[in-house]
Amino acid sequence: MQRHDPHPVTGGLFESPVPPGTGWPGDPATAATPVATTAAAVRRLARTADDVDELQARVSVCRACPRLVRWREDVARSGRRASFADQPYWGRPGPSFGDPDAEVLLVGLAPAANGTNRTGRMFTGDSSGDVLYAALHRTGFAAQPTSVAAGDGQALTGIRIVAAVRCAPPANKPLPAERAACSSWLERDLELAAPRLRAILCLGAIGWDAALAATRALGWEVPRPKPRFGHGAEATLTSTDGHGIRLVGCYHVSPHNTYTGRLTPAMLDEVLLSLRTA
Ligand code: SF4
Repeated sequence: MQRHDPHPVTGGLFESPVPPGTGWPGDPATAATPVATTAAAVRRLARTADDVDELQARVSVCRACPRLVRWREDVARSGRRASFADQPYWGRPGPSFGDPDAEVLLVGLAPAANGTNRTGRMFTGDSSGDVLYAALHRTGFAAQPTSVAAGDGQALTGIRIVAAVRCAPPANKPLPAERAACSSWLERDLELAAPRLRAILCLGAIGWDAALAATRALGWEVPRPKPRFGHGAEATLTSTDGHGIRLVGCYHVSPHNTYTGRLTPAMLDEVLLSLRTA
């Protein structure tokens, strides 16, 4: 049975998961957007996406990883957290969010089942996102200190948020094959951003490794031995047009790090502010 629930900002009625092109705020896709159902199709559709808008539309309808498609849609239909039971769930891959002409790309791990998988926006609707958007606002990248739902007026300038894996994985653990399949989307995001790109900010070791693997696959020069992840770690990559791009590490904004004080607001601000002047 299909559910129709009111969107928390617009009040519009939506099925969960949300069919493309049905009016969800910020939905980049339409019913005509091509759907990848295999890793090979992800590679082809990523390579042929002409711009960021088309790429995000294709990402947002991807069905290449059967386990993740089943999980994200099961959560959207019947696995909702009790506190969100009366809201529609996006139930699709998280498209990138932010400035399409950004000079900084932020690479996260993967959407959360009741966060991005509910709201359809990266890092939105969970405690990790609360910490991240507050810092992005303090450092001048975000229009608002909070990001609660698509359509809430939040906007980013100078930065765009992507992820190593675009679908919420069970237990936050994507399988190696799923990470490999999704890497083509990240590679194309980096390729489209490259002419203006100054820095890649990686939240956590998985984002760091994904960015290094993707830039190597694109033929960028990457230091050897492989740069090691750490909070504040840095390396310089060289894109195919020969310009240098900073790779910057930051502990992930997960509760595991922020509740324990391993990552403080001051530490996060310091890393973000360093990106404004690079
Ligand atoms: Fe597609 Fe990536 Fe989701 Fe796999 S994880 S279904 S490749 S968007």
